[in-house]
Amino acid sequence: MIGRNLITPAKNTWCPGCGNFSLQFALKSVLGELEQSGTSLDDVVLVTGIGCHAKMADYLNLNSIYSIHGRTIPAAIGIKLANPRLKVICCAGDGDCYAEGLDHLIFAAKRNADITVIIHNNRVYGLTTGQYTPTSPLGFRGRSTPGGTTELPINPLELMLASGATFVARGYTRKMEQLRSLVKQGLLHRGFSFIDVLQICATYNNMTDYYHEHVYDLKDHDISGFETAFRKAREWDYNSDARIALGLFYQQVMPTYEDRVFAHPPDNIDSQKRIEEILQEKM
Ligand code: SF4
Ligand code: MG
Repeated sequence: MIGRNLITPAKNTWCPGCGNFSLQFALKSVLGELEQSGTSLDDVVLVTGIGCHAKMADYLNLNSIYSIHGRTIPAAIGIKLANPRLKVICCAGDGDCYAEGLDHLIFAAKRNADITVIIHNNRVYGLTTGQYTPTSPLGFRGRSTPGGTTELPINPLELMLASGATFVARGYTRKMEQLRSLVKQGLLHRGFSFIDVLQICATYNNMTDYYHEHVYDLKDHDISGFETAFRKAREWDYNSDARIALGLFYQQVMPTYEDRVFAHPPDNIDSQKRIEEILQEKM
């Protein structure tokens, strides 16, 4: 049956003004579109980590799993290997995936695992009331750093490009049309798609004014150029006068992790045929 109500009746406990609402809307809207064009929502799986973002598993009416902290990606890769027909989406937090789960993120990019990773990058641990994360701004004052952080944040796009990601994008929760478009393109990309989303945390790190002043949309940008993408990713060096590009930085078509795993030994077995064989064996 198409036209499933994608919002569950679970009580929503996100704070008013939280950017998670935008991501929920973007996912709901894009999945509704994909369903209209023939994707069965029964073939979609949502994996979340631990944090405010993770409640997406409660609020979206999809097959879903709350993984443990920082472990969305190994759970997602396991699901994809068990049934390569599924479309697997990870919603993860910045503290969740750039701290605890960073090694998994790098390996997923390096492998070109055919999953979509959406990072709710509010640059703070929101659920635990405001500790700094790897992307918190220099000088961020929170529960664990009352005097302000003394560290520069990491640049996730630069890291993902260097790790071999084949789809690298940045969105912003206050730019809905662009966010929808990036989520849709990410879901349609065959291979590892990574979308870092600047998400407003209305309660512990509201950077709306800063972002409004500094973001701009990528235009006339060659998404096939690695060097150009790298330069654009490095443009935001976390100085206060930085320009922050939004959009799709880089996309490339490459064999996926699943292609390679199921094609083993690669010389003489057609990967799709092998996937079919394995699925038959499992039935
Ligand atoms: Fe959203 Fe921040 Fe509230 Fe968490 S603490 S629900 S991220 S506004
Ligand atoms: Mg966070």
